[in-house]
Amino acid sequence: MSSEKKITIAVDGYSSSGKSTMAKQLAKTIGYRYIDSGAMYRAVTLAAMRAGLVGKDSDPDIDRVIDLLPTLSIDFEITPTGQNTILNGENVEHEIRSLEVSSCVSPIAAIPAVRHALVRMQRSMGDSKGIVMDGRDIGTVVFPDAEMKVFCDASAEKRAFRRFEELKAKGADVSYEEVLENVKTRDHIDETRDESPLRCASDAIRLDNSDMTFEEQNNWLLNLYNSKIKE
Ligand code: C5P
Repeated sequence: MSSEKKITIAVDGYSSSGKSTMAKQLAKTIGYRYIDSGAMYRAVTLAAMRAGLVGKDSDPDIDRVIDLLPTLSIDFEITPTGQNTILNGENVEHEIRSLEVSSCVSPIAAIPAVRHALVRMQRSMGDSKGIVMDGRDIGTVVFPDAEMKVFCDASAEKRAFRRFEELKAKGADVSYEEVLENVKTRDHIDETRDESPLRCASDAIRLDNSDMTFEEQNNWLLNLYNSKIKE
């Protein structure tokens, strides 16, 4: 389905709330570009980890992370099954989803200079509309004027279980408890950071998808899009 009128769609929410899956499916159905802003924070984090500037048990070396930023290029490559995140020409899609990167990403995403650099890139990706972007601050900071805003949530236990199943399916050696702890820690850092903390925009529509199937979520989002586009 496609429409003449192109809008901007912001899908925010907590870690592993299913927002990326929904957002990606909607973009595919309506022929919009999909951007996973979390992948951009993950790519910066991977680069910082490789440079020894952050680790699971060490705080980031903020000044050196800031110096690293101008050396990084982040792109997306569309594939028949989804999309890959490309960091300085290298496909890092698999690596950025690891629990190691998940454990370091929120402190990196709390650095104001990192956020400013990525928000600039995200705005330029969306300047001609026709975009679905998911993240934490898309409806509040990146595109405060987005015509459609959704905020997803589900219980931490449900979200951790989904993430655990995904990681296990990819062959990762992780326990449910580790994943649950990571989800709760990231929620806390994301909600309490000074720079653009995770918040539901006042004009966003909230969705608690704890008890919804993927199909139900996709239909819910598509119905919302159809009603917005008529406004
Ligand atoms: O969406 P995902 O869980 O992959 O995001 C990874 C991390 O990146 C989040 O826990 C959050 O710290 C950060 N993030 C952010 N702002 C966004 C997207 C992600 O701070 N717009």
